[in-house]
Amino acid sequence: MSFDLAAPLAARHADNLYRQRPLLQSPQGPMVQVDGRAYLAFSSNDYLGLANHPKVVQALQQGASQWGVGGGASHLVIGHSEPHHQLEQALAEFTGRERVLLMSSGYMTNLAVITALVGRGDRVLHDRLNHASLLDAGLLSGARFSRYLHNDMASLSQRLQGGQGKTLLVSDGVFSMDGNLAQLPELAAQAKAHQAWLMVDDAHGFGVLGQTGAGLVEHYGLSSDDVPVLVGTLGKAFGTSGAFVAGSAELIETLIQFARPYIYTTSSSPALACATLASLQLVKTEHWRREHLQQRIQEFRQGAQALGLNLMDSPTPIQPIIIGDSAQAMAISAQLRAQGILVGAIRPPTVAVGSARLRITLSAAHSSAQVQQLLDALAQCQWETPDA
Ligand SMILES: *Cc1c(COP(=O)(O)O)cnc(C)c1O
Repeated sequence: MSFDLAAPLAARHADNLYRQRPLLQSPQGPMVQVDGRAYLAFSSNDYLGLANHPKVVQALQQGASQWGVGGGASHLVIGHSEPHHQLEQALAEFTGRERVLLMSSGYMTNLAVITALVGRGDRVLHDRLNHASLLDAGLLSGARFSRYLHNDMASLSQRLQGGQGKTLLVSDGVFSMDGNLAQLPELAAQAKAHQAWLMVDDAHGFGVLGQTGAGLVEHYGLSSDDVPVLVGTLGKAFGTSGAFVAGSAELIETLIQFARPYIYTTSSSPALACATLASLQLVKTEHWRREHLQQRIQEFRQGAQALGLNLMDSPTPIQPIIIGDSAQAMAISAQLRAQGILVGAIRPPTVAVGSARLRITLSAAHSSAQVQQLLDALAQCQWETPDA
């Protein structure tokens, strides 16, 4: 008797949903080496070009010299070192929140926060397009779980009526597969009107949006009273790894006491915290990176519109082109690859059935000429859907 693993794998192949891991043989950057070939890439979330920035690399090296590599233990035992603490304080100041709690990943942060704040007898309300980690956390919490239609305030309002216990309203800040923005002012108003708490996961807005890069909350000018639970990740625009939650001192103390995914894990490398402190400095002081990025986004959108491509309503570096059929999305991605350009095809279950897409991501490190190269390659692709 053994598990039949072959049949589900074969079915995944047959549905054009089989996933493969490209092997990266260079650092992140506009030009990468993948599976033995050089490509111009539009598929990483290194939006500001910091993942291989010399100052960030140097901070990691110096951090390792001073603090070693391993975190050594959980934060509550003896793994909470000086660089972790400094980074928490710097991020609290940057986000304008009382306190910050640093964690090893965004996935884990969402599990930690949601399971610590709600449980049986409470409710968790999700935008339908929320990130998988938020949805998984909601299910794990044991709270009553419901999803409202994407960015649809009437659908949300209906679900906020009545109910007992605490209500946690949860949304991506920038939707990770569509690139559009959550309507945070409306979400905040609805949450307040129904004594719910609003939690925003700004993984793709943090570093990119707002005057100083503090994210979607800064973009909309919202306070910690509007968004009491703010999650940001460090593996995207910040170019390192890890994540954090920012909020009141009481919120952070609650997580330290009760959040199991925080308590029962080893702290990340203190050297990594040194690297993230360096990238925070660059995020704050080099506003030109956000300007470059906005220029690349405008150039891409104008060019793609001129080609008649199916763009989404996205003001962010995430610029998907909806194709629909998974096989066709894979075919276009392969045609781009043949032209030396790397763009990921995103298929169900990551996106809804029938909405497979190319997920093009832009970076401040891309040049105008590189965006033009992408547009030229897109113009060369065969876009007709083959007869199914
Ligand atoms: C990437 C992402 C995460 C996960 O963050 P990691 O640090 O990569 O685990 C969580 N939420 C959203 C919206 C994301 O896009």
